[in-house]
Amino acid sequence: MSESNLKSMNDLVSLSKRRGFIFQSSEVYGGLGGCWDYGPLGVELKNNVKQRWWKAMTFRRDIEGIDASILMHPLVWKASGHVDGFSDPMVDCKNCKDRFRADQIDLKKNCPKCGAKESFTEPRDFNLMFSTFVGPVRDTAAEVYLRPETAQGIFVNFLNVQGSMRRKLPFGIAQIGKAFRNEITPANFIFRTREFEQMEMQYFIKPGTQKEAMEKWKEIRFRWHLDNGMRADKLRWHKHEKLAHYADEAYDIEYEFPIGWGEMEGIHSRTDFDLSQHQKFSGKNLLYTDQEDGNKKYFPFVLETSVGCDRSLLAVMCDAYRIENEGKGEEERTVMRFHPALAPIKVAIMPLMKKDELQNVAEKLLDDLQKNYRCEYDEAGSIGKRYRRQDEIGTPFCLTVDFDTLTDNAVTVRDRDSMKQERVSLTKIQEYLREKMGF
Ligand code: ATP
Repeated sequence: MSESNLKSMNDLVSLSKRRGFIFQSSEVYGGLGGCWDYGPLGVELKNNVKQRWWKAMTFRRDIEGIDASILMHPLVWKASGHVDGFSDPMVDCKNCKDRFRADQIDLKKNCPKCGAKESFTEPRDFNLMFSTFVGPVRDTAAEVYLRPETAQGIFVNFLNVQGSMRRKLPFGIAQIGKAFRNEITPANFIFRTREFEQMEMQYFIKPGTQKEAMEKWKEIRFRWHLDNGMRADKLRWHKHEKLAHYADEAYDIEYEFPIGWGEMEGIHSRTDFDLSQHQKFSGKNLLYTDQEDGNKKYFPFVLETSVGCDRSLLAVMCDAYRIENEGKGEEERTVMRFHPALAPIKVAIMPLMKKDELQNVAEKLLDDLQKNYRCEYDEAGSIGKRYRRQDEIGTPFCLTVDFDTLTDNAVTVRDRDSMKQERVSLTKIQEYLREKMGF
């Protein structure tokens, strides 16, 4: 058996649509650029990614979770630097009128869309924040922004969380939520979209301890991706040489997508920039009182881990995608080798035929198993076809109820990856699955 990896993002886009993972937003109206909808299997996969991150972050002694609102006081974005500085350089092609990010194309070459020569305007800054209005009056005083990152919701709640949860440094605050950026050129499926979800954690530390914190969180975060089943040779570190205004050290975890290496997660040492800015702009005292150090008052430093939920989900899908026996003349098989904890469906239950006596056993098995696992019941088509479909959606185990089941009280369990089949007694099936999947 030979196997090949995902070669083109288009193959994943078509599998996602065919099998109910991800659809274009507002597709019947021709779509909306940079926006995508998660279908029935996509939402399961996404929830599993989020759950694993949430667990890894908050099932610890030193991290609390929050869920801040998307709309925040407009001064938040003044203080954070987003109003004045959150922009990308943009150029227009004077011929086809298309827009490009000036740092993503070669301005000396012809327009990548229409091929026109020397057709670009001078680059100008384009702010990526979406704005809207609160209340019935559309004046500038009522203008607010859809948050472009979740981090600021954590910074402005730092003292609320610290005080209410009686926290001492070091401790972290984690949050999962939507963020919005009016990207000039959203592209590559869900890699760069205008609406996306972030999973961010800000770890508040004593000034001067940022190097240790960086080492610790780099290790923890890299391990998280490996624990999701990602292949180590598809992951690498990228160190930022040019630092953002708030950072004194920064790394990215990159994944090798079919479009090349791309950032999946940022790990940034953000100094005390954000807290001190919010004190300056709000006029409120946001200093931390260190009771273990003579009640000294200072702004904690911050070590941030920021991963795109959609982008890491895209990496998970790219990594899981395999075609077996491609172009070999033998039967080809597309299989999503998801880690069982991430697989949208854990177990498929299949009566061999649509016969009452088989369906009764299969339905009873479904009732039992779906107390613990997201299952699918499938009785349509040949068993071979049903297996192929489950392979394409990455279901780790298929359980077939056949006529022997009625006498031996056992089912055939078929393993997604090895395709091996074994007979397992119905009284042992829960234990069997728990042992194989590890939960
Ligand atoms: P990029 O350089 O790709 O624009 P960034 O450096 O601006 O990303 P951050 O602000 O550090 O990204 O955001 C943290 C994470 O959020 C990124 O690592 C990525 O996973 C995710 N992310 C950022 N922008 C988008 C987007 N437009 N679509 C999907 N995910 C995004």
